[in-house]
Amino acid sequence: MERKKIIAGNWKMNMLPDEAMQFIQGLTNIAEKHSEIEIILCVPYTDLFYALMAAQNTKIKIGAQNMHWEEKGAFTGEISGKMLEPIGVEYVIIGHSERRAYFAETDETVNKKVKSALKYNLKPIICVGETLEQRLKGETDSIIRRQVKNAFEQIEEEDLKQIIIAYEPIWAIGTGKTATAQEADDTISIIRQEIQQLYSKEAAKNIIIQYGGSVNSKNAKELFEKQNIDGALIGGASLNLEEFIRIIQLV
Ligand code: PEP
Repeated sequence: MERKKIIAGNWKMNMLPDEAMQFIQGLTNIAEKHSEIEIILCVPYTDLFYALMAAQNTKIKIGAQNMHWEEKGAFTGEISGKMLEPIGVEYVIIGHSERRAYFAETDETVNKKVKSALKYNLKPIICVGETLEQRLKGETDSIIRRQVKNAFEQIEEEDLKQIIIAYEPIWAIGTGKTATAQEADDTISIIRQEIQQLYSKEAAKNIIIQYGGSVNSKNAKELFEKQNIDGALIGGASLNLEEFIRIIQLV
């Protein structure tokens, strides 16, 4: 089975509703033309409704950038999977390094969120990645293996087809520094090995794993040529429609 290529934009805390709708309108034809690629926009909560409306009857999928693991309750400022599902959200980023760093997310909360996302038929995009310090100390493989193992605790093999992993070295996010295609491919192959250990050879072969970290139209081609890399999670470059389209055309 050929793994699907996924191009996902992570808008972070950017884009007002009218900008979101305009962006989606501008992307619609390209998404139609490249319907073999899954194109996802992970937008701020305030854009979700508008983005979902604009993306209706298009090939563009809409995701959230986070969710709480509980379904409801006294969690001021939070949004649950139960709330995202009925409005038509299909994907949700879980454990982005910015959330791990600034909002105290841990491997344990990531795992709880993954389970809750699956319960509400949302497809998690699980982010894992090492810091520069960890990479320089030679700890990349063990950190990544630990993050993957903990994120997938008590997740059944049959659920893996709903899950995307994004390997995002923290030192490459928003810094303009990309991992070389070889570095990205090597670490993603470690993730596949861990999935094989946790599940099966088949699971390791089939799970979709993206690379993320300063991807742009200059470095995307080399990354996409690598055997283990199934597309990209794109922050900064996903805010510019022309640049985002150029990247899609390189897949
Ligand atoms: C991200 O936020 O997931 C990301 C990869 O950002 P950037 O492309 O800006 O490095």
